[in-house]
Amino acid sequence: MPFTKLGLPPTLVNGVKAMGYVDPTPIQLRAIPVVLGGGDLIGSAQTGTGKTAAFALPVLARLGKHEARGPRVLVLEPTRELAAQVETAFRDFGRFTDIRATVVHGGVGYGRQRSEIQAGTDIVIATPGRLMDFLNEGTLRLDGLQILILDEVDRMLDMGFVKDVKKIIGHCPKARQTLFFSATIPPEIDAIASFALRNPTRVEIGVSRTVNKSVTHAFYPVGTALKFELLVALLEKTDFHSCLVFSRTKHGADKIARKLKAANHSVAVLHANRSQSQRVEALEGFKSGKYEVMVATDIAARGIDVAGVSHVINYDIPANPEDYVHRIGRTGRALAVGDAFTLTTPEQADDIRAIERFIGQKVPQLKLEGFNYNAQPPRPMGFQGAAPDYSQRPAPQHRPQGQRPAFGQGQRPAQAQRPAGAHAPQQSRPAPSHSPQQSGQPAAPGGNTGQPAPRKFGGLSRGTWNRR
Ligand code: AMP
Repeated sequence: MPFTKLGLPPTLVNGVKAMGYVDPTPIQLRAIPVVLGGGDLIGSAQTGTGKTAAFALPVLARLGKHEARGPRVLVLEPTRELAAQVETAFRDFGRFTDIRATVVHGGVGYGRQRSEIQAGTDIVIATPGRLMDFLNEGTLRLDGLQILILDEVDRMLDMGFVKDVKKIIGHCPKARQTLFFSATIPPEIDAIASFALRNPTRVEIGVSRTVNKSVTHAFYPVGTALKFELLVALLEKTDFHSCLVFSRTKHGADKIARKLKAANHSVAVLHANRSQSQRVEALEGFKSGKYEVMVATDIAARGIDVAGVSHVINYDIPANPEDYVHRIGRTGRALAVGDAFTLTTPEQADDIRAIERFIGQKVPQLKLEGFNYNAQPPRPMGFQGAAPDYSQRPAPQHRPQGQRPAFGQGQRPAQAQRPAGAHAPQQSRPAPSHSPQQSGQPAAPGGNTGQPAPRKFGGLSRGTWNRR
């Protein structure tokens, strides 16, 4: 069904066309009619499924025109980056309307946000902390609110926002429409939903345990002392276009970034201890290709929509199996394809099993050919012997945007087949130099074994990132 048949006004259909979207995604098909009809909704969908448009389009339709009074819609987001991203989406979709959206988050001054609120805005997209500040000082009142949207609720609770979220709900009128979006719906979320929502329609898209079919993923076992060397070797042997490296901790992310810079990579870092301007600079630099690698923690990177991430490397295996799906979902978004490598150490057998159980499939374990797994670990601090000199490595060449990154001199792990069309065919890849660690690895059972279903929606990047 095309967008024109969904009951959206022509201004919004034109906004969608201007974004280059042709057909609605499954969550858009199912959620848009419910939201347009004024019903409450619990949507469980992976990021990358088009859920922002699934709520933004019908909400803009319900608002109709700008009204110079307090906000009628509040969207709560767990991180500043997501808040900024969702605000951009509202502005993009609503470009042919006069509806106003304002983003409210910490890490920047209050002045501009306060004056936008005071000028009268229709939609506020906020992180809980800064929103509470404006509610407490009386700048913002929610008594005219008509629609409350809680996005990435599971992450919001993980981040300890539960009290703030409950207080914010308390500021909203009881007669309102409420929409919940969460990748997973554990019992705590059901409990909040039962006091915040009325007779919600549940829309579940895909299984949040499923790895995107467009992503090929594998484990790379290695001794702890050689992890960084393997990371460097993987980056060297892989023809990546832009690579997201995940670290479990903020400190670890800084350390990896420092070392990668010393190895001549152009590197950005994204984690919660960085200032807002550093975070914006990191993301924009990564999006524009100024940085070929971005090192990030889970929370900072959750839901971040960067088109064209060709590779994800989990330097640290994620603490929760669910984060495995989210992390590697940063690549292969919409139509694009991607590769994801996870470095694993011998003591992480339980984590590996937990991930495989969670996603319902075995993940191939590979060895990088040519990598010396028996090498002496690099010298500890103070040791006088020779340390690897990464600075001799040639400066990286940036590949042009849109070029299909080949899988280095590596063999593709078994399960993901490339969709036919736009991207380089598998046969054209260079000779393999990754070898399976475990022979007789079963072909992945469950969701990801076969050819991916033909994709109806394209990997289009957002029209804009910067605030207008
Ligand atoms: P989201 O899950 O909202 O973060 O969206 C993921 C990506 O899919 C974003 O880059 C969107 O711009 C893109 N997208 C969303 N809906 C569509 C659609 N109907 N057709 C093509 N691309 C879409």
